[in-house]
Amino acid sequence: MYSYGRQSIDQSDIDAVVEVLKGDWLTQGPALETFENDLKIYFGSNHACAIANGTAALHLTGLALGWKLGDIVITTPTTFLSTANCIVYAGATPDFVDIDPLTYTINPNLVEDKVKIYQSQGKKIKAVIGVDYAGHPCDWKALREIANKYDIQLVNDNCHALGASYLDDKQYAVKYADVVTQSYHPVKHITTGEGGAIFTNDAKIDEEVRTLRSHGMTKNPEKLDKDDGPWYYEMCKIGFNYRINDLQCALGISQLRKLDFFVSRRREIAKQYDIAFGSDEGFIIPSVSKNIGHAFHLYPLQLKFDELNTEKKHFFEVMKIRGIILQVHYIPVHLQPYYQRNYDFRVGDFPYAEQFYKNEISIPIYPDLLFEQQQQVINSINHSINI
Ligand SMILES: *Cc1c(COP(=O)(O)O)cnc(C)c1O
Repeated sequence: MYSYGRQSIDQSDIDAVVEVLKGDWLTQGPALETFENDLKIYFGSNHACAIANGTAALHLTGLALGWKLGDIVITTPTTFLSTANCIVYAGATPDFVDIDPLTYTINPNLVEDKVKIYQSQGKKIKAVIGVDYAGHPCDWKALREIANKYDIQLVNDNCHALGASYLDDKQYAVKYADVVTQSYHPVKHITTGEGGAIFTNDAKIDEEVRTLRSHGMTKNPEKLDKDDGPWYYEMCKIGFNYRINDLQCALGISQLRKLDFFVSRRREIAKQYDIAFGSDEGFIIPSVSKNIGHAFHLYPLQLKFDELNTEKKHFFEVMKIRGIILQVHYIPVHLQPYYQRNYDFRVGDFPYAEQFYKNEISIPIYPDLLFEQQQQVINSINHSINI
């Protein structure tokens, strides 16, 4: 059975976790500090706060950026639920902007159109969350310009794009966005089982998310109203238990060392798919913009099901019989019953995202996928569209 993604764990990962188990710290200890330092260095960020998962990272980002009731926050419909849900968690109002049909990332021109529509109603957009979908960075230069021009906060939900480069820079994410979030779920580029991180160059935001990560508690003498003794702590705001533990962090340290190799493997696999499907009329392969290094968390292949006279549902079933479990990324978030019911979104609101959803399948891509296995996937796809 092959699925669209899975972790790569080797003996060095196992040894790293076992080492922590034998030590004194099972939850936040020295491995957390090392992991955060390694993340800062790799991604070129002044601060990195490792956390329970990618959704928690988005949740605390919204709170640290001060989103509240009445604020409007924009994201793409072509993303995982968490990207939009974090807006709702903060009590703010989610809205969407359609994707660019070539990069499948939020379209900056439509973002600016949306800003102007709200302006004409006397309203202001608080923040935009871009998603580097599949591993292709958004047009961050354009998004940054809009953010500066209209005083909008910019967040990068960077879960798909670890190891990607933008304008030949692997450390692009924190250069453009005010806050960057990642996930280390097993299907992502590197894993900690469950896990995530929040990156920022802003010390205040970092301090805020660290406090919120652990119940809103502080022991920092400069922050305390009084000091009863060495046991004393204060809680000034309501926080959560969103901690990541040292077992997870040890795995993360070990995985991060292999990230460049993982990305190079993913690129090799993508190249083979490009060759297999690139010149066939029935398919649309993912395009890569100039000066972009795609990280290929996903290989989003579009099949022109209408022209191929094949039903997507049927295609999935035939592929499953052949041992290949496909996925679709993503059902446009505005079409989820919750969002339709509570915010009045409708079919047709974001036509590119909806069309993309109809065509897209995510086919197996992960470092351990062997050349022969990949050929099997390619043969199965070619076979399955013809029955
Ligand atoms: C995986 C993912 C998340 C959520 O991360 P978890 O660690 O599963 O909570 C959020 N956004 C995007 C784009 C993702 O791919």
